[in-house]
Amino acid sequence: MRKKIIAGNWKMYKTTREAVQLAENLKKSLVNIKNTIVVLCPPFTSLFSVGQAIKNSTIKLGAQNIYYEKEGAYTGEISPLMIKDVGCQFVIIGHSERRKYFNETDAIINKKIKTALNFGLTPIFCVGETLDQREKGIAESTVISQVEKGLMDMNEEDVLKLVIAYEPVWAIGTGKTATPDVADGMHSVIRKSLSKLYSSDLSNNISILYGGSVKPDNIDALMSQENIDGALVGGASLDSAGFSRIVQFKK
Ligand code: PEP
Repeated sequence: MRKKIIAGNWKMYKTTREAVQLAENLKKSLVNIKNTIVVLCPPFTSLFSVGQAIKNSTIKLGAQNIYYEKEGAYTGEISPLMIKDVGCQFVIIGHSERRKYFNETDAIINKKIKTALNFGLTPIFCVGETLDQREKGIAESTVISQVEKGLMDMNEEDVLKLVIAYEPVWAIGTGKTATPDVADGMHSVIRKSLSKLYSSDLSNNISILYGGSVKPDNIDALMSQENIDGALVGGASLDSAGFSRIVQFKK
């Protein structure tokens, strides 16, 4: 059985006070959620406080990035050990904004995924094509290559521990959502490539989330698709009523 996961990526928004307020509101409104794993990914500065705010609830904590070393002279970086220490169980890796603005390559992403797993964290590994790549007809090959390179030299047992998020770059923060069919089609492409790389057992058991302008009014249609197991939500995760509705999707 694949896990249903809804993760909120708060990006570079919210002071600690605002983040705690949002987490407390969500803790109240999501008290009865049982079959969906809810993950909040605030900025690093709020991780500890949000972790405290969601204590004694089923909501999980995630970071938006890590460096791939445990410790050392890496000014400005945050290690997997440090995010574990403040209560994180999840970490987003390879988000398109990190690929675009911080030059994260597939090789760096591969190192980060491996390090996260070594520390017992669940990576939410993001892949997705740009508009240009889609228009050139290379959306599928781009995503397959990101999957292959991001998971380079990893065994089946480790890959089964992670979550993949398909996030078409043209749909992130733009208000343009991939239609449920288009999203499901790419999820199916990802499953086929995992099946070739590993096994059909692995590809049937790994959770693949969709991300890209997910909102309360499109989540139900997305979650009704066979290959979509959840969502990575940016903008709409900053509002407690909207995000609560997304978590309580109807199939
Ligand atoms: C994201 O940040 O991963 C994302 C999908 O953003 P948005 O929902 O705002 O498009």
